[in-house]
Amino acid sequence: MLVGLTHMAYILAALLFIMALAGLSKQETAKMGCLSGMVGMTVALVATFAQVESAYGFAAIVLAMVCGAAVGVYVARKVQMTQMPELIACLHSFVGLAAVLVGFNSYLQLIQATPIIDANSADLFGELVNKLAAAGGHKQPAMFTTELVEIFLGVFIGAVTFTGSIVAYGKLNGTYKLRIFKSAPLSLPHGNLLNLAALVVSFLLMIWFVASGDMAQSKADAFPLIAMTIIALLFGIHLVAAIGGADMPVVISMLNSYSGWAAAASGFMLSNDLLIVTGALVGSSGAILSYIMCKAMNRSFISVIAGGFGNAPAAKKQDEEMGEYRELKAPEVADLLKNSSSVIITPGYGMAVAQAQNAVASLTEKLKARGVEVRFAIHPVAGRLPGHMNVLLAEAKVPYDIVFEMDEINDDFENTDTVLVIGANDTVNPAASEDPSSPIAGMPVLEVWKARNVVVFKRSMNPGYAGVQNPLFFKENSSMCFGDAKKTVEDIVANI
Ligand code: NDP
Repeated sequence: MLVGLTHMAYILAALLFIMALAGLSKQETAKMGCLSGMVGMTVALVATFAQVESAYGFAAIVLAMVCGAAVGVYVARKVQMTQMPELIACLHSFVGLAAVLVGFNSYLQLIQATPIIDANSADLFGELVNKLAAAGGHKQPAMFTTELVEIFLGVFIGAVTFTGSIVAYGKLNGTYKLRIFKSAPLSLPHGNLLNLAALVVSFLLMIWFVASGDMAQSKADAFPLIAMTIIALLFGIHLVAAIGGADMPVVISMLNSYSGWAAAASGFMLSNDLLIVTGALVGSSGAILSYIMCKAMNRSFISVIAGGFGNAPAAKKQDEEMGEYRELKAPEVADLLKNSSSVIITPGYGMAVAQAQNAVASLTEKLKARGVEVRFAIHPVAGRLPGHMNVLLAEAKVPYDIVFEMDEINDDFENTDTVLVIGANDTVNPAASEDPSSPIAGMPVLEVWKARNVVVFKRSMNPGYAGVQNPLFFKENSSMCFGDAKKTVEDIVANI
């Protein structure tokens, strides 16, 4: 009865998770999607709780959940929108670590399930051993082998996800100068060969691990499992460290995918169908998102998941003389806008840092009231999250119908009077199309420099996330408007 109910609850939760993904694909249905996911997770948790037989087990789960929820609520309340990617990377690392721990736990259970049972044993451990052995008694040799493969793959994927996510956290954390890991790609000599060697050696270790498995004696060598774990941990570090800053969006969605597969592997080891389904949903949706990101950035999916294979040559010196730049103050920008009939605003990460979206929305209203056509151009990887800019603009109640994706608006810049680049940098960098030696070469960018006037809002001449200087700032039709974006835009609004 309980088993039947649990299965029904799991199917319901899986359907709700699918509805969550479907809902989250459109702005209008996103809230509904979130709600479906939350209800699904509640159903899944209740169904899982109901299966816990021992009071100790129940108490341990409740204690862990209370501690986890306390930390989770604290972090969720404190985190800034701009810190979301690093938080996500951090959470992915937990999924990876959990998969590693579940893998080792499953391995220990497997080798403890010896058929040598002390039938009279009355202690808790003896009972556990009895149960496991009894379960093991019905196993087929093929099932034993399958379990060993599941454990091995689960630990491998988990370990790569764990360290890869920690490096991603370090690369996303902090500002350009304070970042724990530099966003520039780490290029070790023969990096691709090292990756290949890690994969080949891990595969050979898997063969050793499986071949050493003996179901009758419930044993399998620990050495290949431990050796592979160390290799996989190092492989995860190298895989992500080798990826350049501008490719980080793909890395985040790729790690998202890995964490899904790690969860699915844990599901196999724990014989939990819902975990398998949920892991597969996360894994495949993350893979699809990575593919879409790669297409948006004109990168080969295989190159990026192979850990920076095919990265463009290293960046030119940052202090390279690029020419003179012009500076405009807020009242001058206000005059320029008053004399424009069409304006395109391209927001980026700096708008999120400055929390300038409401000021930008007021500016839009003011200009529209004066009969100026105002539109927004959104680059697919602007900010630090897919859809980051759309979320901020929606929060500031900017109407959806004046917000355009890059492909929809890129041809319109040449017929535009003024472009306001608000805290964007890499996503408007002409080097991507003009300089084949640039690390961001080939990445499609918003062609803002084709407009009659471009005003760039930022605080200094520092490069963007990819660490590449931007020739846009030195073009004849460009001007810099220095300062915190929120303050500057508010000053402009006051001057119109
Ligand atoms: P960038 O990160 O390239 O540049 C942001 C700019 O904002 C900087 O030049 C900075 O200059 C300026 N800035 C920061 N704070 C402020 C402030 N308070 N007021 C005014 N300006 C400010 O931004 P983009 O959005 O153009 O590009 C996003 C980058 O992030 C891409 O390289 C992308 O690949 C990467 N990325 C994207 C992810 C995604 O999913 N969207 C995830 C991970 C990485 P200054 O310091 O001088 O003020």
